Amino acid sequence: MTWPPIREELRGIEPYGAPQLDVPVQLNVNENPYGPSADAAADIARSVGEAATTLNRYPDREFVDLRHQLAAYLNSSGGEGITPDMVWAANGSNEIMLQLLQAFGGPGRSALSFAPTYSMYPEYARDSNTEWLAGRREEDFSLDLDAARALVEEKAPSVVLLPSPNNPTGTALPPEAVSVLCEAAGNGIVVVDEAYGEFRRDGTPSALELLPRHRNLVVTRTMSKAFALAGARLGYLAADPAICDAIRVVRLPYHLSAVTQATALAALRHSRELLGKVDDLREERDRTVAWLREQGFEVADSDANFALFGRLADRHAVWQGLLDRGVLIRETGPDGWLRVSIGTPEEMTAFRQALTDTMRTNDVVKEQP
Ligand SMILES: *Cc1c(COP(=O)(O)O)cnc(C)c1O
Repeated sequence: MTWPPIREELRGIEPYGAPQLDVPVQLNVNENPYGPSADAAADIARSVGEAATTLNRYPDREFVDLRHQLAAYLNSSGGEGITPDMVWAANGSNEIMLQLLQAFGGPGRSALSFAPTYSMYPEYARDSNTEWLAGRREEDFSLDLDAARALVEEKAPSVVLLPSPNNPTGTALPPEAVSVLCEAAGNGIVVVDEAYGEFRRDGTPSALELLPRHRNLVVTRTMSKAFALAGARLGYLAADPAICDAIRVVRLPYHLSAVTQATALAALRHSRELLGKVDDLREERDRTVAWLREQGFEVADSDANFALFGRLADRHAVWQGLLDRGVLIRETGPDGWLRVSIGTPEEMTAFRQALTDTMRTNDVVKEQP
């Protein structure tokens, strides 16, 4: 008898998660390297202090204030006409994703994405007993739209997951592609995961503007990346109110704590400060991509706050070489590639130095094209 009596398909599986190592330069989970300003932190503390006096009561189950403020924020960030009943929130957009699969996936149903993509999606499919289907991205990590449409039409998945910008490649999807796939999906739900939406390059629109045209479109966002609030755990979506109502059936009672709601509301009052470093990070990203290319690496075009670079004959050796020099990046994505999150200018200098040193002392690492 094996112990514990876990579900067969979960036996022996390691829990997901990047290593949390205490090193000087942490560029591995796409966090915003700049903490909240003193003003924002003080307002969050004051708001949480007020909420603390009411913690004997359950929180507002429908988080009405927060939905109003999130709708207002989305209307200032690529959306138009988004109303509070079109907004839903949870403990990180990862919980949103799970709730979507609980509501719209399940036995006899499937979810589809295009690899390489976010490694959590197949886990939520597994956890919700949803069949997982993966199409392929092109060599440059874009989508072949005709092939993608044909696959969606053939498989008729209940949920299509389209991160834009994609993790770990940084690739954004043009709105025309989202529209085509929304139509191809018929009655299936199309989720555009815009966790990195605020980092997109000029001229890359948000899928929010397509909401009035496609009732099966869901756009998710998070406060974990551009908003510099990963520790608070707040993700949200905009969609047809009927989709929000469907999620309310599967959500846990009072899933958003009063402390979380107070924190998120205070953060939204300071959105300008919290998002204040996004332009700096975008510039630092473009500099990092250019520098990596100058060194002869292949680098995926990025609309996010990270860069995927390759191709390395032994990526683990390079990752370890950087770690030995105090710089933690992420061993993820297709074999031969590594992902670096964009940090402060000082952190990126440390990264460039560590990578230069590593490549010098390790002659096996760069693959000949
Ligand atoms: C980081 C990330 C998220 C955000 O996760 P949270 O649960 O909101 O912290 C969502 N989707 C992708 C693709 C991500 O990389």
